[in-house]
Amino acid sequence: MIPYEFTCPDCRREIPVTDPMREATLANGCPLCGRSVAKDHFAT
Ligand SMILES: [Zn+2]
Repeated sequence: MIPYEFTCPDCRREIPVTDPMREATLANGCPLCGRSVAKDHFAT
C-alpha cells in the first residue's frame, strides 16, 4: 500500500511514495530534479 502521491511542482512527475520516502523527499528535494518540496506537494 502506497500512502502518498508526490507531485513535483517543477518537473511535474507524479510519484507514489511510502512514508520513509516522503520524509527523504522533504529532506533532500525531488528525487528527479532536486527541487525543494513542501508537505503540500504530497497527496494521500
Ligand atoms: Zn522534480
